[in-house]
Amino acid sequence: MNILYYKSYFSEKKNFQFHCLKCFFFNSKQLFSDCGLPSLSHYSVQMGSCKQPVVSILQPDFVAKLQKKDCKPNFSIKTFDNEDVFHVRIVEGAASNNQVTFKLFENLPDDKDKADKIAAEMISSLDQSDTLQAAFLVGPKEEQVLAYVTISSSEPLRRAIVLCQPSKSLLYSRSKGILESKVLENCKVAVVGLGSGGSHVAIELAKAGVGNFVLVDFDRIELNNIIRHVCGLSDLGRLKTDAIRERILDKNPFANIVCRNTNINNIQEAREMFKGCDLIIAATDNIRSRLNINDLSLELNITTIYGKCSARAAGGEVLRVRPHDGPCFCCVYTQAMVEASTEEMTNFRQAREANPIYVSDSEVEAMIQVGLSSDILPISNMIVKIALVELTKGKKSGLSGLEQDFQAAYYTWANRREQLYAGFPVDGFLRFDQPSILRWYSSQMERKADCKSCQEIEDGNASFFSKQ
Ligand SMILES: [Zn+2]
Repeated sequence: MNILYYKSYFSEKKNFQFHCLKCFFFNSKQLFSDCGLPSLSHYSVQMGSCKQPVVSILQPDFVAKLQKKDCKPNFSIKTFDNEDVFHVRIVEGAASNNQVTFKLFENLPDDKDKADKIAAEMISSLDQSDTLQAAFLVGPKEEQVLAYVTISSSEPLRRAIVLCQPSKSLLYSRSKGILESKVLENCKVAVVGLGSGGSHVAIELAKAGVGNFVLVDFDRIELNNIIRHVCGLSDLGRLKTDAIRERILDKNPFANIVCRNTNINNIQEAREMFKGCDLIIAATDNIRSRLNINDLSLELNITTIYGKCSARAAGGEVLRVRPHDGPCFCCVYTQAMVEASTEEMTNFRQAREANPIYVSDSEVEAMIQVGLSSDILPISNMIVKIALVELTKGKKSGLSGLEQDFQAAYYTWANRREQLYAGFPVDGFLRFDQPSILRWYSSQMERKADCKSCQEIEDGNASFFSKQ
């Protein structure tokens, strides 16, 4: 797809003007108005307002779909910024707006007046109404598209600048030198738990170039978690999996995403969804799900990263488990450690499950104390970093050196001097010989010889769950 590159300068008239780089290099600095190419890689913007509207095509295969024989697509068209920007996509099923027309050409008209006339005729064939209307003139090549828009049949038809979704290689061109897109595009990551932490991890991995996801969560976006979550009010009531899927596709339309709106404690189903994954992110909010994920990841031999925040996100911890190579989740989180550490309670269901039946609902309600998003993100970012190191192990990338830094299995972080971290000295942040907030501390952690999970599986005994 033809992507836009521009060179700008500030003219005496205080207008920003943009050169098409093709013209800039090959046609001695011509501006788009002198260019004459039917290509749409031209943009002229006045300070504060666009001279030309912009049509953004939101699908990488938009033109290819139109070029198919007997194509009868349904379009969706939305406008933004005082009708300066139009977003167009082909949609499945009933059209939300069918005031879009298109015509295929073996050769696009090279004369602007001729193209304008054809577009006007195309628009006049649509129902005369007060809705947005658009006409596309489509050439035989991918980048050959002319677009015209009007906000109603009584308004003038305007020729638009077209912004197309980029090819795969251009999408991640800014990561070159650190992570080539090909390094991660075939990796498959399961993210279990799409709360404030897990949703951020999923999006960051997509931004880094991970191309395949299994998103697991049965919850919906609720009002009380909007303020800390990647998703916003426009997603209220939606399944977290579907909402995050859309967020990932908004970053990388080439990503393959499977949504599983299920409870991870359904072991047979979980086993199936983890098969073929290179990595599991366990961002769930309860110990039972982590124990189940641990058993399955050991059985399927999949490296897993666990992350959780303590109450009110005063701090957090991250554990990386490489199956049968170092400690597993059960080796580290012994009964004593689970009892010693508090867990952030973000909703009633989670708090109810974590307490015995004799604890009243009002007492459970009082335990719901959430931390700030900014206190959760350090934990999520650490998970992302370790995940990227695990996914690029043995591959050529700018992250290779981190393998030596991330030798430990367990990492802990404190946001504030409270709870487990209450004993940190007040001036610890100023000294390197004292523990302090806002620093990562690692611990190698040992594998336990009598671990019921990793040792039994390694000894050839079936895990508890594999008997189900
Ligand atoms: Zn173990």
